[in-house]
Amino acid sequence: MIPDTTLQLLRAVYRGQQAGYLTLTAIHPSKRLPTPSRHIPITDKTAVHQALADLLAANAQGWGAYFSVALRKHPLDRWKRGGQADLLVLPALFADLDGDLSTSFERIQAAGIAGMPAPSAMVGSGRGLHLYWLITPTTDFHTANLVLAGLAERLGGDVTTAANALRLPGSRNTKPDVNRPCQLLWLAEKRRYTLADFIPFQAEAPPPRQPTKLPIRWRAPPPTLRGDKPTLLSDELNPDLVEAVVHILLRDYAGFVQNNGWIGALCPCGHNRDQPGRHFGFSPQHGVARCFGRHGQILLKELCTLIGVDPASYGGLYRKT
Ligand SMILES: [Zn+2]
Repeated sequence: MIPDTTLQLLRAVYRGQQAGYLTLTAIHPSKRLPTPSRHIPITDKTAVHQALADLLAANAQGWGAYFSVALRKHPLDRWKRGGQADLLVLPALFADLDGDLSTSFERIQAAGIAGMPAPSAMVGSGRGLHLYWLITPTTDFHTANLVLAGLAERLGGDVTTAANALRLPGSRNTKPDVNRPCQLLWLAEKRRYTLADFIPFQAEAPPPRQPTKLPIRWRAPPPTLRGDKPTLLSDELNPDLVEAVVHILLRDYAGFVQNNGWIGALCPCGHNRDQPGRHFGFSPQHGVARCFGRHGQILLKELCTLIGVDPASYGGLYRKT
């Protein structure tokens, strides 16, 4: 009933926690209904499981499902999520990238080259990406807020604070214009850091009070398929991996084989209104995907991340020579 991936991420984040309350919140997409929360002792596994099951049941009824990453000191009121004064510890840093996937991946890559620690987990939020960095739990919320602001700035994400909640992986993003699963794409549980590792990336000024969105530059979509020269050569790619990608597009993204040999499917980056093949196609021959909406060319490596395929478990991206 509770997806394994939900529990995997929560276990990784709250490993070893001996105290504190996990805050779970249901938010109605219309935002016109009140927002109930529950605050569950993190040490009471049965209660946590029951509360997650209840939250996912509400999610099936259309409510958005969220969890607050920092544990609370006390069980709060049903209508409160808590502010900084209510926090006990923050066990992970996070970033909420709500824009164009290609741009997000470019920024993640650039940040990595600049020395930013690699994320411990990546979640497809239904519309963008959530990144998590597992850290030794910290109570220095002031520094954590500066780091969260710095991560958001570098990666082009929404400004978040230590008190924030994120959409629960394994739930559905029920926003009417999204309506897609929020899912754990990968988890590298051994990537554990300390807050100090992120000091070089903290924002210089305190974060703004109002969440602001940084401008995202959209990649211009290609006009037509004709004349399109994929950048990868088909004979270099690992056929086992390509086959796995095709299988998942057919199974999970309503894919079908088009007359030209491309796989038409729902765009894994997400669109307001999408139909299989309307925006998105994958060429098994070239190992390249294209979104004729705003997402442009998607390389096999990026596509694998989006749909949760680990190339390593198929022998890597490229054919062994
Ligand atoms: Zn797209």
